[in-house]
Amino acid sequence: MYASLIDYHCHLDLYPDFEQLVNKCEHDQIHTITVTTTPRAWPKNYELTKNLTYVRPALGLHPQLVAQHSHEIQIWDEYFPQAKYIGEVGLDASPAFYKSFQKQILIFDHIIKQCKKSGGKIITIHSVRSAQHVLNIMDKYDVARENMVVLHWFSGSLSEAKRALDMGCYFSVNSSMLSTARGRQLLTYIPTNRVLTETDGPFIKNHNKVLSPENVSLCVESLAEIWNLTCAEARVKVFENMTTLENSV
Ligand code: MN
Repeated sequence: MYASLIDYHCHLDLYPDFEQLVNKCEHDQIHTITVTTTPRAWPKNYELTKNLTYVRPALGLHPQLVAQHSHEIQIWDEYFPQAKYIGEVGLDASPAFYKSFQKQILIFDHIIKQCKKSGGKIITIHSVRSAQHVLNIMDKYDVARENMVVLHWFSGSLSEAKRALDMGCYFSVNSSMLSTARGRQLLTYIPTNRVLTETDGPFIKNHNKVLSPENVSLCVESLAEIWNLTCAEARVKVFENMTTLENSV
């Protein structure tokens, strides 16, 4: 079986050659979710991808930008009906962003409430040092009932992972995560059918070179090793997971 590569969380619009990269992903048949950090980036991402098969845009408001950009939630609301994929959204309680944490909670609560009302969305969520808060808000609206949730670069505890699995969440993992003991431990815990791959480019480097979607193959190699499969088998597994997820909304 042929299975294309999957980069389920990448910031294509933050690369200098954004438009070329969109076309390259489409040409190479790499399923790429291009997440946005501000809803102001939505129209361009939408226009560039609307006739494409493999590159799909996600409407976001990144928690690390909420301190300065919370008013953009009005723009986010405006584009919401157009978007099937939502992200990057979530919470970040790390020291650099903790000051805005209460504001982040208000924004994320609003976003999840809107997803609950509409249903049919696929949401890619950031949860740095805040998995518990993220899960509480998801629980409050039972958002994973009519939507699919993907926890991106999850770094919570195993009990938080269990809670997320019970809600039906998927996990998109990257090569940086899989190079740490904690990340690998998480992967031995999560069932293989809940795992997707991502690069989170351009925020991840390998040997000082910024990763782009084609390099998601590095992540597939690590997964193959952890799962004791060949790379081809791991790639098929991730492809089947994406298909199941996308057919569930
Ligand atoms: Mn990201």
